[in-house]
Amino acid sequence: MQDKRILAKVALLECDRYNLEDIEKKLREGLELLGGERFIRQLVPPGSSVFLKPNLMCSEPAGSHVITHYIIFEAVVRVLKDYTSHISFGDGHSFADSVRIAERAGLMEIAKRYGVSFDDLKDSLQVKISDALLCHGLEVARAPYEADVLISLPKLKTHALAFLTGAIKNQFGCIPGLQKSAWHARAKDPSHFNKMLLDLNTVMGTRFAILDGITAMDGNGPKNGNPFPLHALIMGACITAVDSVAARLIGYNNPLEVPVLRDAHQNCWGAVLEDEIQVLGSRIDILKAVGFKLARQENGLVNVAPSLLERFIDSSLLRCALRDTIVPNPVLIPEKCKGCRRCSDVCPQKPDVINFIKKRDSVLPHWNLNKCIRCFCCQEFCPEGAIEVRYSKLGKMINAIKRR
Ligand code: SF4
Ligand code: SF4
Repeated sequence: MQDKRILAKVALLECDRYNLEDIEKKLREGLELLGGERFIRQLVPPGSSVFLKPNLMCSEPAGSHVITHYIIFEAVVRVLKDYTSHISFGDGHSFADSVRIAERAGLMEIAKRYGVSFDDLKDSLQVKISDALLCHGLEVARAPYEADVLISLPKLKTHALAFLTGAIKNQFGCIPGLQKSAWHARAKDPSHFNKMLLDLNTVMGTRFAILDGITAMDGNGPKNGNPFPLHALIMGACITAVDSVAARLIGYNNPLEVPVLRDAHQNCWGAVLEDEIQVLGSRIDILKAVGFKLARQENGLVNVAPSLLERFIDSSLLRCALRDTIVPNPVLIPEKCKGCRRCSDVCPQKPDVINFIKKRDSVLPHWNLNKCIRCFCCQEFCPEGAIEVRYSKLGKMINAIKRR
């Protein structure tokens, strides 16, 4: 008899290389574990339109560990072609040409070969959310919203703001263009940002996720971290469950340490806890990463979200006084900086936060932390990996106390 608490099933498949035949086989194996033909027919009813949302966050060469691998995309298309011919895909960007990004990533050539259409997610519409956690209305990209089935194809990476980016965060690309920066500015409290992400997934109706963790990213993610051979494909219809399994695989003993999963759990948005999720296929303890550098991890200290710290420090006066000391900050690695000013361009608080100051022969960014909202867009989009997210000494001490 099934455990009454099981709310979601997740297929975890071991896969150690990006080989098309191997991955297609693993995908079919995962779908079989989740319910086979009946499950797939419910997921993709005959004649339905499917939109694939890979993570193409920036211009990277095909096979880069920063973006969803093109072989995953091709394998998914090959499987879906058995059920529908109406497949499209896309990702949206605030500052870059989405077509060129998809071409360089290798997805566009595959799409053309299989008759899959592309959308740059610029065309948008305003939608209402009746059972919202935070946003009763959102502007979203039309193509994934209007598709019958939205399937997320995220990449498993560390993320300075979200701790990990996977099946939930991937749909942030469905917020059109510059609205993404606007949301960072509007949802300054990380918990508000998380609720917006959950509302976004509610309204988009994200139906299924296939998380590319064959080569994941650790360290200074989501763009400038290191490739990590995790050898895992994680699939499921419940995106919180998929991310929860991913969190446990990369080293979070408790998935509630990941802020968006904690917010999802507190609001009964989806399955998050270990005993709510049935993991099929491989076992987490067998594939669990050894030596994975979590986001914001320094000197053996692990993450505590600002909201947790704020709960820890009860006095609001003390909280105000200490806020800039206890939350992590963007920190420049001067020798890596090329002075391109991208950090300032993407900052939702511009022009107030990042100023460029001449120092000897170079002009380097300088942060006014009193006005910084810690969205870490500057760290995310620095093309040189010249920005890291670090706690101050006091912040590290408080984290250490909190973890005991
Ligand atoms: S984006 Fe990076 S390289 Fe460019 S100015 Fe900012 S810190 Fe320097
Ligand atoms: S300086 Fe960086 S972290 Fe601060 S608000 Fe701007 S983009 Fe966000």
